[in-house]
Amino acid sequence: MAQLTNRAKILAQKPLTFWESLYLPAIFKGMAITFGHMFKKKPTINYPEQKRPFSSVFRGLHVLNRDEAGRENCTACGLCAVACPAEAITMEAAERQPGEENLYREEKYAAKYEINMLRCIFCGLCEEACPKDAIYLSETFAPSDFTRKGFIYGKENLLIPHPVMEKEKFEMARGQREQQIKNK
Ligand code: SF4
Ligand code: SF4
Repeated sequence: MAQLTNRAKILAQKPLTFWESLYLPAIFKGMAITFGHMFKKKPTINYPEQKRPFSSVFRGLHVLNRDEAGRENCTACGLCAVACPAEAITMEAAERQPGEENLYREEKYAAKYEINMLRCIFCGLCEEACPKDAIYLSETFAPSDFTRKGFIYGKENLLIPHPVMEKEKFEMARGQREQQIKNK
């Protein structure tokens, strides 16, 4: 047969010795390795029951913030969208109507606010650009999904729970990261 190079090696299969033909030594050797690993410290953890602590600089899923009275902080200024290098943020602004002062802190608010998590690189520039403390990246991450549509997060996914009406959920969603940033 024609060869492209002369580097090919002809491999000859040696006949098995008596002990090799029993296969038992190889099985015991394999079992010894398996048992040896049973007593070693596991490098893996039982996620999701066990969770590793995140680094203090970890940037996870976005949260749209409310003030202490539960009003939405975002004024739909668009600075976060302009700062976003991945063009992941889109929004539509609306004017606050009389009687809505308990819902929105500013006269203008985001009627629609969306982040495409498939585009987002979790750089945190939106958080830095925001003048209203309205968006920050929390300690959780976007869960997996089967459809691309499931990664378009709207206000219903991003808005933090009400701090008065849903105090426990609010504290959980806020986590420690915002405080750590303030303490720096
Ligand atoms: S974290 Fe970065 S990429 Fe993601 S939405 Fe904010 S600015 Fe855009
Ligand atoms: S999140 Fe902040 S930067 Fe973005 S539109 Fe709202 S107020 Fe402006």
